[in-house]
Amino acid sequence: MAQTPHIAIVPSPGMGHLIPLGEFAKRFALNHHFLVTFIVPTDGPLSEAQKSYLESLPKGISFVLLPPVSFNDLPDDTKIETRISLTVVRSLPSLREEFKSLVASSQLVALVVDLFGTDAFGIANEFKVSPYIFFPSTAMVLSLFLYLPKLDEAVSCEYRDLPEPVRIPGCIPVHGRDLLDPLQERKNDAYKWVLHHAKRYRLAEGIMLNSFKELEGGPIKGFQEAESGNPPVYPVGPLIQMGSGDRVNGSECLRWLDDQPRGSVLFISFGSGGTLSSDQYNELALGLEMSEQRFIWVVRSPNDTVANASYFSVNSQNDPYAFLPKGFLDRTKGFGLVVPSWAPQAQILSHNSTGGFLTHCGWNSILESVIYGIPLVAWPLYAEQKMNAVILAEDLKVALRPKINENGLVGRAEIAKVVKGLMEGEEGKGLRTRMRVLKEAAAKVLSEDGDSTKALAELAQKWKNKITNDVSVQRP
Ligand code: UDP
Repeated sequence: MAQTPHIAIVPSPGMGHLIPLGEFAKRFALNHHFLVTFIVPTDGPLSEAQKSYLESLPKGISFVLLPPVSFNDLPDDTKIETRISLTVVRSLPSLREEFKSLVASSQLVALVVDLFGTDAFGIANEFKVSPYIFFPSTAMVLSLFLYLPKLDEAVSCEYRDLPEPVRIPGCIPVHGRDLLDPLQERKNDAYKWVLHHAKRYRLAEGIMLNSFKELEGGPIKGFQEAESGNPPVYPVGPLIQMGSGDRVNGSECLRWLDDQPRGSVLFISFGSGGTLSSDQYNELALGLEMSEQRFIWVVRSPNDTVANASYFSVNSQNDPYAFLPKGFLDRTKGFGLVVPSWAPQAQILSHNSTGGFLTHCGWNSILESVIYGIPLVAWPLYAEQKMNAVILAEDLKVALRPKINENGLVGRAEIAKVVKGLMEGEEGKGLRTRMRVLKEAAAKVLSEDGDSTKALAELAQKWKNKITNDVSVQRP
């Protein structure tokens, strides 16, 4: 059997999980000469964006798709965290078969899952392969997950009804209503799933975190205190999408950007699945028009029920242009570009013409902005995004946060004001300067002898040692 160390990665659904896991895999394949296999649980055919990303992964990284699971029995209002967790749980029999053949044919040293994949640990243990978690969100959310079993026992009401902010170890205080979505309704299955995973985090041999000390010093220092009883945490970030991803709507955006002045364009995107209500969609369009700033806006048809309507599919559910205000495209022609469903975000953020980003505050989007030094308008929608917006606006001070009016909307005038403030105002300059400091810190931790590079090398060595140490282990 070849002695090349091999890692199996099981991504739970979501581009925000797949992309950073892919970047993690690239480091191991390209810099440390590991083989990597993605074993992908699915609930149907892959979206073009998922397919394009998986197919763009370099030599040494392969992927297998597991047979799609069925959600026919789930009520329509089943929350995303339940669906994500069940995609993994219902794939366990086929995952076990794939795993078995990898173990028989290669030196499988680790199983890496993301934040909702802990149910696969049983299979890793059965085959004596080390279970690891790659945590694609913040150190603050990881600290909350590790603390959640205690918090759950200590508090009996809904967290949003607590009079005092919640004190997550090592973090700035956060109000209960800003905690991640599935923690807002403790009787819902989504809460039970998050708690279930949180309790299982201690079963991991280690947790890789997509963050770094200069960005989230408080919680990261907390993890390094030995008495926590938690698995070792390796801050390996910021790992972001590099190159590729450009097959979908790619070249048009980039060509358009080439013709715009330096730092003049605001990029607007609500991640891989975010959607706005119809009224909010309309206000945003009119606000952008009023701001008179250049923009690229990734549009998906609005949804009045949930803010993550396109999470599994990525694609717009209906024709997004049909919902834009009358005449909007004509009036903004020349200074605005509207792109349906998906754009090459990382490339747009790295382009000289881009000067600001209105983001739903997904962690990958934030890390991409940090790497390219782009200041933000924080517009959180779902998952842990409100917590991320607190970090950005109150702690790091690299984002403006528009105010929500009495109708629960961000009005067009507020949007125009914030966008102008970011792109042209004094406030925007301050944010940009602070973002540049973070950009430099990120470049440093990723440099040859930077902390994140060293943390990855330490892990690689640990996993390589397993081959030499485990030669005597009899696997089933
Ligand atoms: N992304 C992209 N084009 C899009 C929307 C998203 O390339 O039109 C990428 C983005 O660059 C990021 C990921 O998809 O790497 C989204 O992850 P994030 O954590 O920001 O948000 P999520 O989609 O998980 O809510």
